[in-house]
Amino acid sequence: MSLTEITARIAGAERAAGRPEGTVSLIAVSKVQPLERVEAVLAEGHRVFGENYVQEAAGKWPALRERFGPVELHMIGPLQTNKAKVAVELFDAIHTLDRPSLAEKLARLAEARGSCPALFVQVNTGEESQKAGVLPSDADGFIRDCRALGLPLAGLMCIPPEDQDSRPHFAMLAALAERNGLTGLSMGMSGDFEAAIAAGATHVRVGSAIFGARDYG
Ligand SMILES: *Cc1c(COP(=O)(O)O)cnc(C)c1O
Repeated sequence: MSLTEITARIAGAERAAGRPEGTVSLIAVSKVQPLERVEAVLAEGHRVFGENYVQEAAGKWPALRERFGPVELHMIGPLQTNKAKVAVELFDAIHTLDRPSLAEKLARLAEARGSCPALFVQVNTGEESQKAGVLPSDADGFIRDCRALGLPLAGLMCIPPEDQDSRPHFAMLAALAERNGLTGLSMGMSGDFEAAIAAGATHVRVGSAIFGARDYG
């Protein structure tokens, strides 16, 4: 597939959901992709990208930003507390705020810098033991605690279990966000971004459908 096709499918899903066109942000997930594929998507004019690993992103994006100009970068992978400082300097948004120690660290960094990336709280909607994210039953309390720390919460994020229909997970995330007065919904990947848009996604994270399969070799 191509960027043009994905963009067209997103516009179609927005129309089908009765939502204004252009309201869903497409995060092109470039983790592990060869540089020439990333450069090709930049050359097509796309400027919103997602990465999973701080080190990989820090090694790649400063030079790409020099060459291509401003790029909005989203951190969508698990964030270790000891990488938070590098992350807040590099990323415009962090989608994986999932624990009190990280919230406290980000609050300290935000205070020192006078700014903070947009933050999404990751919710483990499938309650999978191997997956990051706060449990749905802990979400309200965690959101309250993050707000008490003064953190700028943009919304919620989830990664539904691979072997399940994503739709109930998207619906749960949307309900949790609404209940907490949050408007951002980071949900939907290559296989289910249209369903996510139907459920209210504001940010879809699409990797392989744009860049091709990842080779972890
Ligand atoms: C890798 C990744 C994606 C993109 O996955 P694709 O299936 O390639 O679209 C989206 N979100 C997260 C959190 C990821 O780690």
